[in-house]
Amino acid sequence: MADMTCIICPVGCSLTALKDENGVIKVTGNACPRGAKYAEAELTNPVRTLTDIVKLTNRDVMLSVKSNAPIPKSLLLEAAAILSTVNAAAPVKTGDVIVKDILGTGADIVATKDVD
Ligand code: SF4
Repeated sequence: MADMTCIICPVGCSLTALKDENGVIKVTGNACPRGAKYAEAELTNPVRTLTDIVKLTNRDVMLSVKSNAPIPKSLLLEAAAILSTVNAAAPVKTGDVIVKDILGTGADIVATKDVD
């Protein structure tokens, strides 16, 4: 059994997900089907969008970045460790790919701001 708060919309329903002996997941507390889908994903393959910063070799500011798709929660620390070794260089535009296909997840790490 897992209790969680649905983060799909601002309502924030309190969900309980139960997996029976046949592996069937039953979700309660959800006010709409999206909550059930969210809870099932949280039990089977939780994912998160990674937000972080990377160094810019030619500026005194850090570059904020994020994954352009959610990645498995189990890989977040490993991905952050990779980003701590990345050196990007300005100019950078929002959406520029800083790391392609991080850890083979299919998600790219992209810039979230412009740095001239
Ligand atoms: S279950 Fe539906 S209504 Fe409730 S927080 Fe999730 S998305 Fe919103």
